[in-house]
Amino acid sequence: MTTRAPGAGDSSGSGSHELILVDALLPDGRRTDIGIRSGRISAVGDLDTTPHTGEIHDLAGALVIPSLVEPHAHLDKALTADVVPNPTLDLAGAVQAWRQATKAGRFDRDDVTRRALEALRLLTAAGVTAVRSHVNSLPHTVDTAVAALVEVRRTVSDLIDLQLVALTGPTATGPAGAEGRAGLARAIELGVDVVGGAPQLDPDPQGAVDVALAIAGDARLPVDLHMDETLDPEARSLHYLARRVIETGFPHRVTASHCVSLGVQTPQQQIETARLVAEAGIGVITLPQTNLYLQARGVRRAPPRGLTALDALEQAGVQVCAGGDNVEDPYNPLGRSDPLEAAALMVLAAHRSPDQALQMVSTSARAVLGLEDVSLAVGSPADLVAIRSVSPREAMARAPQARTVYRRGHRIAHTETRTTFSPDPSGR
Ligand SMILES: [Zn+2]
Repeated sequence: MTTRAPGAGDSSGSGSHELILVDALLPDGRRTDIGIRSGRISAVGDLDTTPHTGEIHDLAGALVIPSLVEPHAHLDKALTADVVPNPTLDLAGAVQAWRQATKAGRFDRDDVTRRALEALRLLTAAGVTAVRSHVNSLPHTVDTAVAALVEVRRTVSDLIDLQLVALTGPTATGPAGAEGRAGLARAIELGVDVVGGAPQLDPDPQGAVDVALAIAGDARLPVDLHMDETLDPEARSLHYLARRVIETGFPHRVTASHCVSLGVQTPQQQIETARLVAEAGIGVITLPQTNLYLQARGVRRAPPRGLTALDALEQAGVQVCAGGDNVEDPYNPLGRSDPLEAAALMVLAAHRSPDQALQMVSTSARAVLGLEDVSLAVGSPADLVAIRSVSPREAMARAPQARTVYRRGHRIAHTETRTTFSPDPSGR
């Protein structure tokens, strides 16, 4: 990509654009220019750059798509795989390892801040302009992790829409849950955007759903729960959550992350729950990397993939998107901090088409998070990513690092790569 100096004069409509992206390849195969003004797309079509007084970026045929979204991260845990090993390699081992590390005071506020900013840097370079991160909010972590992330949210506000979800400890109900509820209250005081939790870890999962809805209702905040992250088909907290949202008329946005057990229930159960989830207006986030890694350990014959019942949910009209979840921590030692990785797994492990998969890490993820839609049309926010690829399918297949990222019309990241061969295997 090259940047041209502004032209002289201003005698045509194109002069009203502050930035023109020249020669962009759209997903439908058109090659065109994109005008941007006041952070929004002001034109899509052939633009005359001669009299243009603003900036011109020549994309030289790079694919331009709406910027990517990470709807489910854990920035407080990110990039700790080498210092917090998971002894059993499953979800219980990861929960235990993380709890021990934080109880031992392993991470102070500066450390959380440093790792969260590095994780966001990787996401930004990949083309992400919106992130929702869960943050552990037990009393012993809330004043380090949540306080750090609230400050990080302010630091990156010009680059990323960052939403923070207070993640309570394993128990939120009864006397044993007092600690978890106190942490949640403190996290709300510190300014989180969403109330979270993991009801299936609670001795009373339905009670934990009610606690989350009650606390969020009082605080007038949305809810995003880790739902049924287990292959036990008896885990039906999602069904209960949907029923309670409908019965109580809970007025804020509700999101259900994971919903693993739904994927191993009977088709009839899937359809019934999916209909309720649609009626309740609950968005669902499937998280392929971490669930492929943590679920079905020890299952020697045809291990389940740990994904949710995507067909039933989509047929019922539920908004479903995909996220990367944990990155290089005890819950997932890998993770590329690139939503195109989750999208690729949606194609390979969940049998979505490449176009559907791309929607799941951009348009659908924005809808689930309650963010304004981004499209390649006049009036849309100019949150865009240009990728050196000929199609969305190829972008997912090769995931080239060479990307240019725009947020509200400002270029916020630009990566170039260069490979030399000696000799070139193709004989060129
Ligand atoms: Zn999670």
